Amino acid sequence: MLQSHLFSKTSKQLPEGEESKNAQLLIKGGFINKSSAGVYTFLPLGLRVLNKVNQIIREEMNAIGASELLMPSLIQKKYWEQSGRWDVDVIYRTGEGAKTEKDFQYGLGWTHEEVITAIAKHFISSYKDLPRAAYQIQTKFRAEVRAQAGILRGREFLMKDLYSFHVDRADLDRYYQEVITAYKKIFSRLGLKALVTEASGGAFTKEYTHEFQVLHPSGEDTVYYCEACGFSQNKEIYTPEAHKECSGEVRSGQAIEVGNVFKLGTKFSDAFKLSYTDSEGAKHPVVMGSYGIGPTRVMGTIAEVHSDEKGLTWPSAVAPFSVHLIALGDSSEVLLAAQKAYELLSGLVGESEVLYDERSASAGEKLNDADLLGIPLRVVVSAKTVAAEKVEVKKRSEKTAALMTLDQLEASVRS
Ligand code: ATP
Ligand code: MG
Repeated sequence: MLQSHLFSKTSKQLPEGEESKNAQLLIKGGFINKSSAGVYTFLPLGLRVLNKVNQIIREEMNAIGASELLMPSLIQKKYWEQSGRWDVDVIYRTGEGAKTEKDFQYGLGWTHEEVITAIAKHFISSYKDLPRAAYQIQTKFRAEVRAQAGILRGREFLMKDLYSFHVDRADLDRYYQEVITAYKKIFSRLGLKALVTEASGGAFTKEYTHEFQVLHPSGEDTVYYCEACGFSQNKEIYTPEAHKECSGEVRSGQAIEVGNVFKLGTKFSDAFKLSYTDSEGAKHPVVMGSYGIGPTRVMGTIAEVHSDEKGLTWPSAVAPFSVHLIALGDSSEVLLAAQKAYELLSGLVGESEVLYDERSASAGEKLNDADLLGIPLRVVVSAKTVAAEKVEVKKRSEKTAALMTLDQLEASVRS
């Protein structure tokens, strides 16, 4: 793709009061645009990253037998009333005062246990219909009081929410472990080290739930963890006695919650009367689990973790492009050699994975922009490289560049 076609540009200007590092880097790079506190547009560059995050999540959800669907965001009051969640603080209510008030009162979807349970009633009635799992990747709305952490805490944000349905606790426990394993794969593919952290079940369950926490100073949570045995507990429940069988040291640190898993039990199946009949004809409530990941928060976390003083340093799995090709100078020799490199790279990684900077701008501006965008591999064509019949190749994560022939570049990209 030609950089001159990009809808966004890099900028030095930041919106007033934007203090979070993830938003600063992503706004400067032209990945996101701030609409209001906690509300952002994902510009073409940012959307490419987000789509790659979503694709990794999708693959791992599909691999554990969950099927993707898309639920509405406009959720009528009656659903929330049925579970007692119309009066929560985070809900955005709409339609109050509309002409036929009763039908036009909605709460914007901030989570979807109510809706999915109502849907499941249409399809689950027998033990033969269980287990089932479905997920969506969808925009959620929450009236977050503190929306000052960029895309780590949005008032409008993306969530992958998975819901599972089971005949009993034992089958829920089995699937819960499968989801934990899938989440570990997801975060490792995304280039994040996530601690599986015990946390309080809140209103849902007396058992612990599990949060996936990424250690980082910008995190709003505090976790106590032991590197030796993998122990990790959220500050809200931590007691030193819980870490007994290991001689390793427990440390505490700030962390970002990128995902969590919950055993809901029968809270929602009771509220919505979702039940099944067993092989003897006896009726039981369906046992449920719910499992979230915030793709936009994940993207912000990656930006916080994978960046340096010059800009972003995307892991290849989620980088907006694989290669950044840059032509320095606009002589016909340089443009011809750059075009040749563009064709070679497009053949190797696909044209849509190569960002070609053919703009007429200064070398300093182009190289600074490349550092800011953080594409893993940079290939520069200049008068100097043309004279040497080579191109200059540099990884974003490394300090030094190397001169290579196109054959050597091909071999290095292939390896
Ligand atoms: P937090 O304690 O950070 O508010 P939560 O416990 O409310 O999170 P859930 O309601 O379980 O989180 O949401 C599931 C996932 O959605 C979280 O693990 C997180 O990754 C993401 N998420 C939650 N709230 C936000 C938000 N305001 N902005 C961005 N992502 C969010
Ligand atoms: Mg919350």
